[in-house]
Amino acid sequence: MSIKVCKFGGTSMADGTIIRRAAEIVNADAERRYVVVSAPGKRFGGDVKVTDLLYRCHELASSGANFGEVFSRIRSRFEGMEKELEKDVGMGEALDEIGRNIRAGAGADYCASRGEYLAGRLMAAVLDVPFVDAEEIVRFAPDGSLDATTYALAASVLRKYPRAVIPGFYGRGADGKIRTFSRGGSDISGAVVARAVKAALYENWTDVSGFFACDPKIVPSPQCIRELSYQELRELSYMGANVLHSESIFPVRSAGIPIRICNTFRPSDEGTYIVASAKRRREENAVTGIAGKKDFTVIFLEKSMMNGEIGFAARVLGILSRYGVSFEHLPSGIDTMSVVIDNRYLSGGVLEKIVSDIREEVHPDSVRTHEDIALIATVGHGMANAIGTAARLFKALSEANINVIMIDQGSSELNIIVGVDNADCAACIRAIYREFFEGKGGTGS
Ligand code: ASP
Repeated sequence: MSIKVCKFGGTSMADGTIIRRAAEIVNADAERRYVVVSAPGKRFGGDVKVTDLLYRCHELASSGANFGEVFSRIRSRFEGMEKELEKDVGMGEALDEIGRNIRAGAGADYCASRGEYLAGRLMAAVLDVPFVDAEEIVRFAPDGSLDATTYALAASVLRKYPRAVIPGFYGRGADGKIRTFSRGGSDISGAVVARAVKAALYENWTDVSGFFACDPKIVPSPQCIRELSYQELRELSYMGANVLHSESIFPVRSAGIPIRICNTFRPSDEGTYIVASAKRRREENAVTGIAGKKDFTVIFLEKSMMNGEIGFAARVLGILSRYGVSFEHLPSGIDTMSVVIDNRYLSGGVLEKIVSDIREEVHPDSVRTHEDIALIATVGHGMANAIGTAARLFKALSEANINVIMIDQGSSELNIIVGVDNADCAACIRAIYREFFEGKGGTGS
């Protein structure tokens, strides 16, 4: 029998009734043997995720303030769920211990991880299967990345359990302490478990029926993508499509395990399959999806004969690395080069320092910066064979009166990225969607 790993996100773990529903989904298919859970998320607009409450407790405790009121909200959520589910899993004692540890100065990662830990214990009780703590199977390297020994370790532990619930988001660091992935990291945990148990499918249960061609907050009811490739997913999620953590494909990609995005609240919807290479028919859309992200800065450099100057780009990039700044894109011309950087690296005068160092060290004819740029990626394997895709895209933008500040096409022809003013971000996505999904040529996928 093949194995499916199911990961339930925060909204699928938000209260007792929803946890029961998630458990029914697991029990409906005997192949769903390993379950990874997030911490309880928002139950309604304005609600606060348990993980955010836990970070807040840590923040208050580390500044010597009283975190009792925030902690009591966490307590009432978990104790309430325990009651609702009519299970006795010792939530009270577990919360007492967590409270003591926070008071004693436990680290932020430990504090944040406790939402998944408690949710995992609840889910294990509801399913009546063993709880396997993530700290036993997930290891982090000293630099915070996933330690490659994790897969063999997880496989050897999970082999002993035909079924198990594992909390997402955390593991153990090289120093023996709890460490977490970045926010939303339970998606990565699910992928790690899927690879370790050689799953045939990694099901990621969330509150939407798949991956949309663009953000539904920007275009109402956009098309749902039936199938997309790992690469397309990586591009789209990196650029802000936040159904799945952008790093969650790495563990499953090399093992060729497909991911299915499914909706806990509409379990019979087909969802989206993420696979090694998406099969698309010729008549289908060249574009698979569109995503955008705000708040980038472009540094434009010009220097005559730049193309002949050996080491010019290396010196510019050397300056960035000196300031610990990573760049996103590097479109260039014969005598021009632009560097696109996420604004979060540039606060506190860093941009000014970089520009002044560039002036001193590479002597460009001109340096200009454009702050507050949004990058919009139009992604699709089909673009490589479809003549006129770029023409359609830029015509749509000009008809929508949108000024394009920068253009970058990935070397694999998988994406075309345009930089526009932050203020034009939504209008730009709407214009591209209209052209490819509602326009004459777009049939969708
Ligand atoms: N609970 C964590 C977060 O809110 C991790 C996750 O849900 O994936 O970021």
